[in-house]
Amino acid sequence: MESNDFILTDELLEKVNKFSRAKLAADEIYTFPVILCDNEVDRDYERFSIDALRKLAELFIGKTGIFDHNPKGENQTARIFDTEVKVSTDRITSAGEPYAYLSAKAYMIRTAKSADLIAEIDGGIKKEVSVSCSVKSHICSICGADMKKSPCTHIKGAEYGGKICSYILNDPFDAYEWSFVAIPAQKNAGVTKTYDNKYDKDYAALKSELAQAKKENFQAREMLKKEILRLSFLYNPLITVKTVGFLTNSLSFNQLLELKENLEQDLKEKEINSKGKTNTTNKNINEFKITKKEN
Ligand SMILES: [Zn+2]
Repeated sequence: MESNDFILTDELLEKVNKFSRAKLAADEIYTFPVILCDNEVDRDYERFSIDALRKLAELFIGKTGIFDHNPKGENQTARIFDTEVKVSTDRITSAGEPYAYLSAKAYMIRTAKSADLIAEIDGGIKKEVSVSCSVKSHICSICGADMKKSPCTHIKGAEYGGKICSYILNDPFDAYEWSFVAIPAQKNAGVTKTYDNKYDKDYAALKSELAQAKKENFQAREMLKKEILRLSFLYNPLITVKTVGFLTNSLSFNQLLELKENLEQDLKEKEINSKGKTNTTNKNINEFKITKKEN
């Protein structure tokens, strides 16, 4: 693969100076190449399309990079002043496309404070970067469905007819930042993908729906428990509130329903019995679940 190294020509220096208030001379800055991202399938079974890389090339111009070991350090930031999508002629991705990557040129101001960092980059220690961006669509590699509009049932990473499903990240619309990471997450450039609001909203909606369902379930359970307490009292006023409460707490929703129905049935029978006979032995008490458990 061709090298990303470059010589700072007058033309490139002009590009640097588009971002600088004072006109910088070549010896006042340190410039270096970085690979921001590529079209290889990553560990999340996602990959950028080549078109997405081209769009990102535009979006990353002028974006600042940070160095994770010292994010607060002064003069410890670099800025991208030029980008280019390079397509390899001798490498094919696992998805069968020619390998393409977003190559960028960055610069830092040479100061006493940035000297150590420059030495590290020069020495090849700080080579891995991660990027943060938003994309509009995630396309299923198996059927072409847009996962954000009409999701299909294919699962990322699963195999379908000998092909591994991955999501193709398309239409990037914003690039936030890039950073050097101490421990590379990937073989090539590490990519941190930020999904756009649509996904966040869906997730938030799902979470609130779940919370609502839990709340409703809780309310239904409490109502059922109250009803059981009332029926228990009607059935046998000697049963204490505490005992019924203790028993109902440990029952599932379905068990509570069953108990309530049994109680209603028993109460009906008790009513019939007391009407039919003047002196009932009330054998039902021993069959009644609550009194059974109480013993
Ligand atoms: Zn699909």
